[in-house]
Amino acid sequence: MDTTAAAFRFDNTYARELEGFSVPWKPAAAPAPALLFLNRPLAAELGLDPAALDGPAGAALFAGNTLPEGAEPVAQVYAGHQFGGFSPQLGDGRALLLGEVIDTFGHRRDLAFKGSGRTPFSRGGDGRAAVGPMLREVLIGEAMHALGIPTTRALAVAATGEPVMRETGMLPGAVLTRVAASHIRVGTFQFFAARGDEARVRALADYTIARHDPALAGTPDRHAGLLRAVARRQARLVAQWMNVGFIHGVMNTDNMTLSGETIDYGPCAFVEAYDPGAVFSSIDHAGRYALSNQPLIARWNLARLAETLLPLLGEDAEGAIARATEIIDAFPGWYAADLLEGRRAKLGLLRPDPADEALAADWLSLLHAGSVDFTSAWRRLGAAAAGDDAPVRALFPDPLAPAAWLARWRVRCADEDGASGGAPGEPGPAAGTSAGALPGIARAARMNAVNPNVIPRNHRVEEALAAASDEGRLEPFERLLDALRRPFDDVPGLAAFAEPAPAAVTAGYRTYCGT
Ligand code: AMP
Ligand code: MG
Repeated sequence: MDTTAAAFRFDNTYARELEGFSVPWKPAAAPAPALLFLNRPLAAELGLDPAALDGPAGAALFAGNTLPEGAEPVAQVYAGHQFGGFSPQLGDGRALLLGEVIDTFGHRRDLAFKGSGRTPFSRGGDGRAAVGPMLREVLIGEAMHALGIPTTRALAVAATGEPVMRETGMLPGAVLTRVAASHIRVGTFQFFAARGDEARVRALADYTIARHDPALAGTPDRHAGLLRAVARRQARLVAQWMNVGFIHGVMNTDNMTLSGETIDYGPCAFVEAYDPGAVFSSIDHAGRYALSNQPLIARWNLARLAETLLPLLGEDAEGAIARATEIIDAFPGWYAADLLEGRRAKLGLLRPDPADEALAADWLSLLHAGSVDFTSAWRRLGAAAAGDDAPVRALFPDPLAPAAWLARWRVRCADEDGASGGAPGEPGPAAGTSAGALPGIARAARMNAVNPNVIPRNHRVEEALAAASDEGRLEPFERLLDALRRPFDDVPGLAAFAEPAPAAVTAGYRTYCGT
């Protein structure tokens, strides 16, 4: 065993403590491993030496050819509702959990492969993954992380040297190494609940509590507490998605984690021209996973989790249903509060006011009516806070369209600052020219720290992936990754990454599952 591998210090509680939840399995051998991406900051966070993971040793490791010492690869079982229909048997069809590592913060993190070959749960699939979609997981995961949104992250991507067959033809194959707080999904609970295996549902719930909600461990009410904690995490997560315009695209119950991290960046996309009904996935014909449906689907998924936990919520069935229902019914309120808190920050406001919800909703209605780019509009509102309305107005087909709203927002800002910000309809004071300027500049700085300049623009992502996959050119991917890792910066070099796609590109943009 090589010394690189020994550095991981695995501790594999999932494989060791949970009998019947996974099967031991080995990754397939890759004929010609090549390291395409190594996440150095994340490697350091895991207590690994990035230098030791580079080069041929790293390529062999991350392609699955040399197993790190202490890894006990297993394929996890799970079930799941996919587009509303229940599949009782899914599981890691092309993934393997290698084990867990305690990071430098003392947090337990899963390390898993994706694209490492067939498993007993592959069904008709080839167990493989292509370079493009695995680099896509890198880009979106790192972007989400930099935006402060809980997410699984890519540690590495290695090309296998083996082509994979997809609808569009032969593509270069790759293995992604993914780091996650855990890979416990709503679908993991559903797998055992569907088989009436209450003992394993209980074991899984207690394992999840120990891992994600240790304060609940051993308390009599812990299973209701777990459901509540998961619901609160999901409320916050989906609110964060909505506040950056992220559309997950395939919110099946097997793609929803108990940890509250975003997982499985398949057909996801960011909204450009604001439209609550935005859908990009080629197979989501009914718009089940459209932007504005996401909180409703999260609640639906949580109700499926609640069903699996009913036997643990008390002897009396009616009482258990009442307790679960109370939590599921509380979800919309938690979500609304998290969403509003985020929106208030995006508006540059510090103190709550009963009119804030309508203020934010009316702003979004204006963006929708004018097909205005969501990310740019929020970002340019920062300039408006500092006194310059022109950039945000220029985004609207009719630059006068937002005038009344901007005036209303200014009054609200001025109220909060305890100073008059000028008469409604008048542009705010210019920077440095009046008493109103200082709060305006401070507000703009706060807004620019929550309203990103750079998000993964769909056309930029596709461009970078096409260069990597079709031509083996990684520079566009690396440049984009660098921009996505500092989403709040505003420097001239980033301008091209901040620009929306031409409307025609967005109109025809489609994303795919099964990549
Ligand atoms: P996803 O929609 O990517 O979350 O995957 C749903 C299910 O399909 C999971 O059980 C995956 O492991 C499985 N799956 C997806 N792609 C493949 C593939 N190429 N080979 C085998 N299983 C796959
Ligand atoms: Mg999945």
